[in-house]
Amino acid sequence: MEITATTEASVAGKAPRPGTQGSEAKPVQDRTRKIRVLVVEDNASDSELMLHALKTGGFESDAEVVQAPADFADRIRSNKYDIVLADYRLPGWDGMETVTMLQQENLDVPVVLVSGALGELKAVECIKQGAADYVLKDNLARLPQSVRRAIEEKELREENRRTQEELARSNRDLEQFAYVASHDLQEPLRMVATYTQLLAERYQGKLDENADKYIHYAVDGALRMQTLVKDLLAFSRVGRKQEPAQDTDCTHVMRIVLANLKSAIQESGARINYQTLPVLVAAESELVQLFQNLIGNAIKFRSAKPPEIRIIAGKRKKEWVFSVEDNGIGIAPEYAEDIFVIFKRLHTREEYSGSGIGLAICKKIVEHSHGRIWVESQPGQGSRFQFSWPCPRERG
Ligand code: ADP
Repeated sequence: MEITATTEASVAGKAPRPGTQGSEAKPVQDRTRKIRVLVVEDNASDSELMLHALKTGGFESDAEVVQAPADFADRIRSNKYDIVLADYRLPGWDGMETVTMLQQENLDVPVVLVSGALGELKAVECIKQGAADYVLKDNLARLPQSVRRAIEEKELREENRRTQEELARSNRDLEQFAYVASHDLQEPLRMVATYTQLLAERYQGKLDENADKYIHYAVDGALRMQTLVKDLLAFSRVGRKQEPAQDTDCTHVMRIVLANLKSAIQESGARINYQTLPVLVAAESELVQLFQNLIGNAIKFRSAKPPEIRIIAGKRKKEWVFSVEDNGIGIAPEYAEDIFVIFKRLHTREEYSGSGIGLAICKKIVEHSHGRIWVESQPGQGSRFQFSWPCPRERG
């Protein structure tokens, strides 16, 4: 049996909820449109009572009533409802099945269960499993408030989803822009750098003192810009899937990194200790960049003592946590997050070389693999950089 009911009532004169004004998702009570209600109920007079309660509570609604699961499934596929009001006890099924069916269809339509005495525990269980609320049949005066809240929450969820999608899209655009810009800037920059260097070679000492100084500034600026653009390109390349992620032995990665850093290690007298490290699912070149940036920094930001660097890995639940510890100059805790931001540095180029991109690359590599990176440090007391990486078999 199916009843189609329409109730009409004024929706004017209600104040919007704080915090929802001015957003795309206006509170439902601001609208003049009807809400579309799907009632799942085998008792015609109970359906009438629910719709009457909505009308009394200020809702204008278009309502359809169904009883059987097959009808319900048809309706939700073919139509867009703002709310489902489902009796908890139905002949041959129950109201919670409507929640399951909506979830299976991937539809976000709030379900308010309308029932006789349900019991607190059962009610809490239903809400945990996805029902928006439950209202007792002998307290239908509460129904409009419950429906209003369920619809507003759904609208907030939708708005949140839209914002997340927009953010992801704009991040993709920005990454694409950074990649194209840094890639395409390389050629003209190479011309500028080459010709300013040629100018310096040919005309050094042949013009006046000021000209020598200006040419030196131009060469220096062009070379710096080349380094920045090269670093930016390296940053944009992270996660662009040039190399597939596969089982990668970190002990082997460490050997490559130590070979790459050989001269810095010898010059500084650094001692590097590491135990056997695990195998991760990763692109080898990215793990090399990650460890090389961290160990390179541990050497660069050393104190007066020769660097002592320790790399360890421990398993915590479903992830490996690595730590790279040094006895260097340390970092004030207030900068613990800033240093992972692209081009952020705590020192001048005269004090320490670099462009401030190394840790941003580390963060991007780790986060692309669903891990986290952080630092614990105090000035003068060394630093401990840590990052997590999902264990191979637990990766989704
Ligand atoms: P860069 O090394 O080019 O400056 P990074 O992004 O690698 O850029 O590091 C950002 C900043 O974080 C550094 O300029 C430095 O101030 C600080 N830092 C990074 N690693 C360490 C470390 N091991 N000890 C002390 N400071 C560090």
